[in-house]
Amino acid sequence: MSVAFLSLGSNMGDRLSLIQQAVSMLGNDNNIQIAATSSFYETEPYGKKDQPWFVNAVIAIRTELSPIELLRACQSVEAKLGRDRKKEEHWGKRPIDIDILFYDDLIFSNEILTIPHKEVHKRAFALVPMLEIKSSYIHPVLKKDILELHEALEDPEDVFLYGTISGSNVI
Ligand code: AMP
Repeated sequence: MSVAFLSLGSNMGDRLSLIQQAVSMLGNDNNIQIAATSSFYETEPYGKKDQPWFVNAVIAIRTELSPIELLRACQSVEAKLGRDRKKEEHWGKRPIDIDILFYDDLIFSNEILTIPHKEVHKRAFALVPMLEIKSSYIHPVLKKDILELHEALEDPEDVFLYGTISGSNVI
């Protein structure tokens, strides 16, 4: 059984509900168990600024799925919640975005998947919720824990607490 950390974000429609639906759809997958959920955060868009603010959360899951199978499961939930990648701009508006931040201590990269997520250490909207769940997790490439990565952020985007998801928030 592996442990993976997923980042969920939405900046279209009922953002909170979309994230809650995505968490429950992932939890309904027989191969995925939700182990911990962070609070919800409202966050300033990263990259492209002229778009609505996001709601973000991070969850920890236990799974027997391989990283690629997990990516497919996340993309299937995104598609069911109305995401059409062909119509989107890079860093633009989206009903739901699910990224794999970490998968055990794996370091992996191919043309469709990079683990750890290649931007995770630069993104306050991923690091702040991750702090709640496992601040001691060590980034396997950078060899720094989540607390250190968060402290090292220069000029991070704004991240405000927005609400809590019921369930455990530590793993
Ligand atoms: P996004 O627009 O953020 O959903 O990401 C676009 C593409 O990033 C996806 O089609 C994935 O194939 C690729 N990708 C690479 N690494 C990851 C990762 N760790 N988690 C999710 N998507 C990834």
